[in-house]
Amino acid sequence: MPTSESKTFDSIIIGAGQAGPTLASRLTQSGRNIAFIERKLFGGTCVNNGCTPTKALVASAYAAQKARTGATYGINVPGPVSVDMKAVKARKDQIVLKSRNGLETWLRGMNNCTVFTGHAQFESRNQVRIGNDVLTAKEIFINVGGRAVVPDFPGIDTVPWLNNVGILELESLPRHLVVVGGSYVGLEFAQIFRRFGSEVTVIEKSSRLVSREDQDVSASVKAFLEKEGITVRLNAECIHLHSHGDNVAVGVRCDDDSSDSLGSHVLLAVGRRPNTDDLGLDKAGIAHDHHGYITVDDQLRTSVPGIWALGDCNGRGAFTHTSYNDYEIVAANLLDNDPRKVSDRIAAYALFIDPPLGRAGMTEAEARQSGRKVLVGTRPMTRVGRAVERGETHGFMKVVVDSDTRMILGAAILGVTGDEVIHSLLDVMYAKAPYTTISRAMHIHPTVSELVPTLLQEMR
Ligand SMILES: Cc1cc2nc3c(=O)[nH]c(=O)nc-3n(C[C@H](O)[C@H](O)[C@H](O)COP(=O)(O)OP(=O)(O)OC[C@H]3O[C@@H](n4cnc5c(N)ncnc54)[C@H](O)[C@@H]3O)c2cc1C
Repeated sequence: MPTSESKTFDSIIIGAGQAGPTLASRLTQSGRNIAFIERKLFGGTCVNNGCTPTKALVASAYAAQKARTGATYGINVPGPVSVDMKAVKARKDQIVLKSRNGLETWLRGMNNCTVFTGHAQFESRNQVRIGNDVLTAKEIFINVGGRAVVPDFPGIDTVPWLNNVGILELESLPRHLVVVGGSYVGLEFAQIFRRFGSEVTVIEKSSRLVSREDQDVSASVKAFLEKEGITVRLNAECIHLHSHGDNVAVGVRCDDDSSDSLGSHVLLAVGRRPNTDDLGLDKAGIAHDHHGYITVDDQLRTSVPGIWALGDCNGRGAFTHTSYNDYEIVAANLLDNDPRKVSDRIAAYALFIDPPLGRAGMTEAEARQSGRKVLVGTRPMTRVGRAVERGETHGFMKVVVDSDTRMILGAAILGVTGDEVIHSLLDVMYAKAPYTTISRAMHIHPTVSELVPTLLQEMR
């Protein structure tokens, strides 16, 4: 049996997700000698089986859809549109590989950074084991991310299923994809594969899609996905699975199989869990909640002095930009004497279906529940010139303002380029400026953003 080797560093970073690599750069620049540990793929979820590959597929799906609807624009595409899944995957893989390799090369070439590949586990509050090596440091940064939840649906062990990792490896088109979970991850894949040519059914346990959003957002998303031919089944009170010939049957009521959806493939997209169950948190005495999210304060310090947790594993965000912002907060406090905090940030994210949903701050429902007096402005995309010109008029824009303070509380831009347009509202929110800052601004014609001032002028 090989003997353990002990090595001492100033700092250890566990996980090459969205916060760790840039933090490594700042720590080494500050003169620290660091150990960097990654167990699998550099770049983590976002680069390898999250943001990057899905957005590459969204682009391929958009191209397919444009080709299919070419006649609307006076463009003739001879014959039916077909999708070469091997070529689609090869394009996606090339984009992912370039990003992953670039990151790994950067880290391996970084001065004063020793890269270890393997699974890290705490041995004590300042020691981490990786294989036969025990690394010691007075500063440890955890950036281990998360993975897809495997739900305990009846029958789950009896059938094959895919998650966000497996579905990205497909080289042929599913005949019928059943997506369990009608939220952010599930809907992106549902539309992608529908546009590639699969039959697609979405099964969702709540009474509407993306149920964290306002009712009008959920209704609009459902309407345009159904228009593309996606079957949506809501109120799935008891989801269960069993095999049915060559298909997988997904039922929505446990006392009745008569209305099962039969899929050639099933994607489970019902949530994520942190990669902390096999990290040895208890050996270091690091507090966590019952889901495994590491408990952190407003500056991302864990319950153990000298240990920080960044990214999805701390439960304070579930996006690449929240993980990167975590890096900025930790670096600012530790290295720049700049007291940045998690509570300074405003919720913001996008749902990358087409058209996309860009979101900032509160939903209308949250703003009303908070007891504030609110002004709401809405405008359908049918009344946005640029959307009409592009032939992409699904969705609407909505902004919610506090009528007493005149501050923007939140916005939803569900429409073409909504993922970009949302930032003009977000930046005014960050500036803590009244909505009139933007309602009086002159925006460029013809853009979707040009209607944001009008939206604010027409609030009720
Ligand atoms: C399908 C999908 C699409 C998404 N699309 C978007 C999007 O468009 N925009 C967006 O903002 N977010 C998106 N997300 C979310 C985004 O991917 C995550 O929020 C982000 O990757 C979180 O980054 P992180 O830094 O927390 O960790 P991760 O990126 O998950 O990286 C953690 C790393 O730690 C490593 N690791 C874990 N445990 C150990 C250990 N014990 N020892 C050593 N290494 C370990 C892992 O191998 C991994 O490389 C998407 C997610 C999915 C699943």
